[in-house]
Amino acid sequence: MEVACPVAPADDWVARTAGEVRAEGERRHPGEAPTCASGISPSGPVHLGNLRELMVPHLVADEVRKQGVPCRHILSWDDYDRFRRVPAGFPPEFAGHIGRPLSAVPDPCGEHPNWAEHFKEPLRESLARLGVLVTEISQTRMYTSGAYAAQIVTAMRRRADIGAVLARYQTKRPAQAGADDPDDEEPRNAGTYYPFKPYCASCGRDDTTVTAFDDETSQITYTCACGARVGPVPVAEVAGKLVWKVDWPMRWAYEHVTFEPAGVDHSSPGSSFTVGGELVSEIFGGEMPLHFGYSFVGTTGSAKMSGSAGGAPTPSDALEIFEAQLVRWLYARRRPEQSITLAFDAEVGRVYDEWDKLTRNVADGSADAASQAVYARAAGTAEGPLPATPRPLPFRTLASVADITAGHQEQILRILRDLTTPDPVATLDEVRPRLDCAQAWVAGYVAPADRTQVREEPDKERLAVLTDGERRALEILAERMGGDWSLNGLTTLLYGIPKLQRGLPLDAPPTAELKAAQRAWFILLYQLLIGKDTGPRLPTLLLALGQDRIRVLLAPGDPVT
Ligand SMILES: [Zn+2]
Ligand SMILES: [Zn+2]
Repeated sequence: MEVACPVAPADDWVARTAGEVRAEGERRHPGEAPTCASGISPSGPVHLGNLRELMVPHLVADEVRKQGVPCRHILSWDDYDRFRRVPAGFPPEFAGHIGRPLSAVPDPCGEHPNWAEHFKEPLRESLARLGVLVTEISQTRMYTSGAYAAQIVTAMRRRADIGAVLARYQTKRPAQAGADDPDDEEPRNAGTYYPFKPYCASCGRDDTTVTAFDDETSQITYTCACGARVGPVPVAEVAGKLVWKVDWPMRWAYEHVTFEPAGVDHSSPGSSFTVGGELVSEIFGGEMPLHFGYSFVGTTGSAKMSGSAGGAPTPSDALEIFEAQLVRWLYARRRPEQSITLAFDAEVGRVYDEWDKLTRNVADGSADAASQAVYARAAGTAEGPLPATPRPLPFRTLASVADITAGHQEQILRILRDLTTPDPVATLDEVRPRLDCAQAWVAGYVAPADRTQVREEPDKERLAVLTDGERRALEILAERMGGDWSLNGLTTLLYGIPKLQRGLPLDAPPTAELKAAQRAWFILLYQLLIGKDTGPRLPTLLLALGQDRIRVLLAPGDPVT
């Protein structure tokens, strides 16, 4: 679907929107901090697509704060919405709670107060790690405390006007009237339409039908599919909420929302946004927030090898393998109308390389202005910089080392010291959290067949049939590898052995014949060390194994007689 961002492609959309938010906030509510809003339904695991709902307003609110101006970013938890369906992977018995508020459904694990809190907690933790500062608003709390009592009465008294607006859009898009969306019931007849949906006093579900509302006394009467008949009672004493398309604009007015983007599905013509725009001014005396649609977030290679929970990956899944700054960067570098793809497969190494390159370019002043702005938004917030890895070694190197050592910490440190001569790392803390990310990635996303299994015993059969040339190459390696036991030294030696065997110096330029010989020589080493034709870079692999182990695995056996 086409998504239009009102900020021209040549403009910095964050800076431009932040400027508009300040100006519009000042015009609407002088002297008050402008409000950027996000809404999340804690109905199941909150995935990486939902994170965009938070990151887009966050980037704008943070930009305002970086200018020294207070800006509120509210996270409205839609925890008073009805429980619609049991998400994949949860016991089917929960279907018995369909129709109750998310905050009234039991917690699936037993450690949280209810279903909604179970899904809020991991997102809350991820937001803290990402430096996304929000003011949380629980809609359960707002509705049950009576905060919206006056707005509910207003909506009920103006039900015919609301019904007329909804009906107008309903006829424009009959095919899209929410068949799968009982919370979004649209009026067939504006005369008997009620925008307030009670949660039944008897069964707690919203299978209710309002049968009367007294405009004078604000008393409501309803029936429920369970057989309950309630009322007339004051609507203020009845649990329930405004239907979604009325609820949203009511809250825009209540919270003085200045800016609230939404996913493309909400911003098409005839959507909740269009309807809300009319209702907020006609019924609730507010103004529509500045807004635009943002596009989708996709992932590649995100199926975990452990096959644990399954389902779409969440922000905490992403934070296991990407540093927090990098996750911010993946969102900040795209314009709202551009989709985002987060890679969990072998592309992860390339993403880290790109980020490291950007970091270097910013440090040496060679990055252009747009890249510098994106970098600054990724690296920190108005509160300060986010944690970074003090010594950011290439992710691919760390992943290789984690792979070869199967996560053994002492071995990792020994190898990393050898890899970083002449200024060796002193402790693993210098390479964290990136090392932890690399370990989590190897454990979670590299197929067992692609991991490195070092041979326990020498490959006697292969060693017994070595050619004279192969035997000599292995001898040269064993004799000379200790001479410069470093990444550079081993690299030179490994490429150089086929040259030495041809009477050429180590620094001889490559030829086609040399390249073929090098390839065959590397395959022999991989076969003898890890039983495959390919693997981690050989110098890294040798450093990881150590000289003693290499000598054992490469020692030519007795010739077959
Ligand atoms: Zn729980
Ligand atoms: Zn009932």
